[in-house]
Amino acid sequence: MARIVVAGAGAVGASIAYHLALLGARDVVLCERAEIASGATGKAMGGFRQQFSTEAEVRLARASLELYVELGPPLFDQVGYMFLATTRAGLERLAGRAELQQSLGVPVEEVDPRRVRGLRTDDVLGAYACWEDGVAEPAGVTRELVRRAAERGVDVREHTDARDIEHDVLVVACGAASPELWRELPVRPLCRQLVDVGPIADLPADLPMTIEEETGFHFRRYGDALRLAMPEPAPRWTEREYVDDSLVEDKRARLAHRYPQAAGAPIVRAWAGLYDMTPDAHPIVGFVGEGVYAACGFSGHGFMQSPAVGRAVAEELLQGESELDLSPYRIERFKGEAVFPETLVL
Ligand SMILES: Cc1cc2nc3c(=O)[nH]c(=O)nc-3n(C[C@H](O)[C@H](O)[C@H](O)COP(=O)(O)OP(=O)(O)OC[C@H]3O[C@@H](n4cnc5c(N)ncnc54)[C@H](O)[C@@H]3O)c2cc1C
Repeated sequence: MARIVVAGAGAVGASIAYHLALLGARDVVLCERAEIASGATGKAMGGFRQQFSTEAEVRLARASLELYVELGPPLFDQVGYMFLATTRAGLERLAGRAELQQSLGVPVEEVDPRRVRGLRTDDVLGAYACWEDGVAEPAGVTRELVRRAAERGVDVREHTDARDIEHDVLVVACGAASPELWRELPVRPLCRQLVDVGPIADLPADLPMTIEEETGFHFRRYGDALRLAMPEPAPRWTEREYVDDSLVEDKRARLAHRYPQAAGAPIVRAWAGLYDMTPDAHPIVGFVGEGVYAACGFSGHGFMQSPAVGRAVAEELLQGESELDLSPYRIERFKGEAVFPETLVL
């Protein structure tokens, strides 16, 4: 059997290695040039949602749900994802997306946002939620999958550049660094940041990930703190990971409005990480050259899709095809006109 070297032990590489081992691959090496989950995975918000705007993305998330549910708390808390609309147009968008999501089997429903204790709702016209969605611990999940992979015989090597290891197939799962291993990959780093504020007294244990449809501002509970995120007014196309303090203050002000009991909560920590963006914000999955397979370009939502991607990649590498249709994610799509933009990049 051929030797498969998986480059990168973030959420994606860990899931691929784990699923390869589950399917009985014997000679798999998982190489991480730094430490497990030290890339974007260790910096992520940890949201898991099936509420995307395109079928291609909904399917990846839907097929990932089972593993998260199996992992359960404390690695995954199924507290739901709730979108709030404050305008008619926003509410119409939510309704339109819910229709698509429901047609793909996702149990999205219109809800009364007043059910969330402490949330300001007097300016909210309507809300949609999916209670199967939730929040996870990206680094913890990744370490758990690496542990399971190693238990099943995968050779895990930290502080090792994958390019130094002999292989028959090299799987490039290096996030924003992926083009270093295969130059032709159309992946660009985008700097994004998060902030934790707290402690905040009396946070509901089941606080859903809450998202304002119009602004994209969103927050989740993290212990007795809240973790805040938002798309940025001007994209920072750089591989430099740095925090912009004015964006931190903007998020705190938005939180004070949406969740008044958190007003003035001190900053616990703010940090930045890199999204690995593709031109259409969909990932690249498949062979890109002789013996080189890519699983990258997850454009800010790769953690939540990593279970499905890991399984599909393992099936394709070992059995020649995967149960999940990978055709929307092939690199060849960038040669033609066809794009299928995912508008919900949060
Ligand atoms: C601020 C922020 C918030 C986010 N929030 C969410 C969220 O809520 N939900 C969600 O699903 N996603 C989220 N994401 C995106 C998510 O983090 C990524 O899509 C996902 O973690 C990608 O995992 P990965 O394994 O592909 O990449 P990474 O986690 O970046 O891992 C790649 C690894 O490859 C290693 N590497 C690089 N070169 C080599 C080499 N030559 N040899 C060996 N190893 C190498 C790196 O050291 C790194 O550890 C967020 C990202 C950021 C930055």
